[in-house]
Amino acid sequence: MPPETVEVRRSARRRRTVSAYRDGDKTIVLLPAGLSRTDEEQWVRRMLDRLAAKEQRRRPTDDDLLERAKDLSARYLDGKAIPQSVRWVENQQHRWGSCTPDQGTIRISTRIRGMPAWVVDYVLMHELVHLLVPSHGPRFWTLVERYPRAERARGFLEGFSMAASAAAEEC
Ligand SMILES: [Zn+2]
Repeated sequence: MPPETVEVRRSARRRRTVSAYRDGDKTIVLLPAGLSRTDEEQWVRRMLDRLAAKEQRRRPTDDDLLERAKDLSARYLDGKAIPQSVRWVENQQHRWGSCTPDQGTIRISTRIRGMPAWVVDYVLMHELVHLLVPSHGPRFWTLVERYPRAERARGFLEGFSMAASAAAEEC
């Protein structure tokens, strides 16, 4: 799982119900006031697990990715990037995505599969732009920036990489 910014909000009016939801790259956990520290920690962990499990079930398929890629192209690239296929691949440890512009094929690393939709969309957007512009020059980034959450998504992915390498070092 990506590193998470968790915000715990306690409410005196809330008696028994606990809930959690994502707000952009933040996770909000709503708890009743008056829980002990230990209870609070347990609830937060439980809610995060539950949320992650729910997102896991919602994981997009290859077909979903293709549909989303077409949609992103229509919305931000005037439909100029035309993906022929998009699929998840397991063997990309160092890249989030890759593509073959001649064939219009895009591959997305399964490492990002459980990430929020807006992060997955950013990676799709990046590869879509590569179908039009192969290198990472100014023209490339100008197009990528048409995706409104580009900056935020990059921050999210960077945080994920850092946390992943830190975890590896701990082993
Ligand atoms: Zn690139």
